[in-house]
Amino acid sequence: MVPVVIELTLKAGRERSVLRRHPWILSGAVAAVEGAEGQEPGGAVRVSSATGKVLGYGHYSPASQIRVRLLSFGAAAPGEGELAARVAAAVARRAGCPLLGETNALRLVNAEGDGLPGLIADRYGDVVVVKLGSAGMQRRRDEIAEALREATGAAAGFERADAAAARREGLPAHQGPLWGEAPAAPVAIRERDREFEVDVVEGQKTGFYLDQRDARDRVAQLAAGRRVLDLFSFTGGFAVAAARGGAEQVTLVESSSSALARAELHMKRNAPAASFECHGEDAFEFARKSERGVYDLIIADPPPMARRRGDVQKASRAYKDLFLHAIGLAAPGARLLFFACSHHVDADLLRKIVFGASVDARRSLRVLGTLGAPVDHPVSLDHPEGEYLRGLLLEL
Ligand code: SAH
Repeated sequence: MVPVVIELTLKAGRERSVLRRHPWILSGAVAAVEGAEGQEPGGAVRVSSATGKVLGYGHYSPASQIRVRLLSFGAAAPGEGELAARVAAAVARRAGCPLLGETNALRLVNAEGDGLPGLIADRYGDVVVVKLGSAGMQRRRDEIAEALREATGAAAGFERADAAAARREGLPAHQGPLWGEAPAAPVAIRERDREFEVDVVEGQKTGFYLDQRDARDRVAQLAAGRRVLDLFSFTGGFAVAAARGGAEQVTLVESSSSALARAELHMKRNAPAASFECHGEDAFEFARKSERGVYDLIIADPPPMARRRGDVQKASRAYKDLFLHAIGLAAPGARLLFFACSHHVDADLLRKIVFGASVDARRSLRVLGTLGAPVDHPVSLDHPEGEYLRGLLLEL
């Protein structure tokens, strides 16, 4: 982290969030910056209050609304090997976690949740897929690659471009191998008794929805003898779990033809005798038009609909419409898993939306439980923005 050349001073009274260890300094809180001129973005920065008190150290993002991501708090600067030490610690925590057995695909570094703002690293077998979501992490690409290689012993590391982050940071999106060979074919992974082939180069996120692992386990437990509907199936994570769990029939709906083709392959591989059908269409339309009352287990896992706070109202209406129609497809006694994956739709709002849908559908639902991201996606209490995936398990 040394040498620090950028000095940032906050506006008067804007140190409150830093004192509560929130890792972001937003542009509106900044009074003055010195030493950043002519520098490559992502440099080390010292943050001080308006009265001159040193509050912490971090990485400077000159173009981003999140102007600084803090790595440490207080007057002591982090040492040179701090990033590598945090990467190693994050990997070691997972290795020692009894809840993370039976899978060779997991998140190794979850950004702020692991004290590494801007860094995502997911392991798929012998390949580590990395997203560098801040100027600071991009600038330290080599250091991070080396730390991940060392901590995991994986044969290859691959950087996935993050277009949204690149836009936010005002940097070009970059994609390519970090070490070892670039993965040529999809990477085979195994999660409990489920096998998937993950397209780590082109697939959504880093290739797979690792964050739905616990929910897949639930689906497997609930599926026996049931007619299952997997709305927004992507590559069939839930559908495969349902088939392995003994579902009577599985219906997948997904608008991406490449994802659906892979889902079909996954179904055939994991459950050769399963009865299933794939619908390459709009899931909202499908839910609106399908025959009512025929499914006993329905999963609705739509893409994020409220990326910004200002989108929440519109998103709430879209979620409600989706859930309303999904409820209509449910047979008596059916169980439903409804998800929202936007930070701005919190657990309370999701429950209210589902309640509204149930009132309009004139069907009464019981909440059996809540669902969320598994333990390899930790959320720091200092950074509640890191929480985004909420699910409700309901019963008709
Ligand atoms: N349940 C999946 C992840 C779903 S992510 C899993 O666990 O792996 C949301 C998915 O919805 C994406 O695959 C996206 O391609 C798809 N999608 C987005 N809009 C859609 C629409 N209107 N109709 C159907 N699928 C859609």
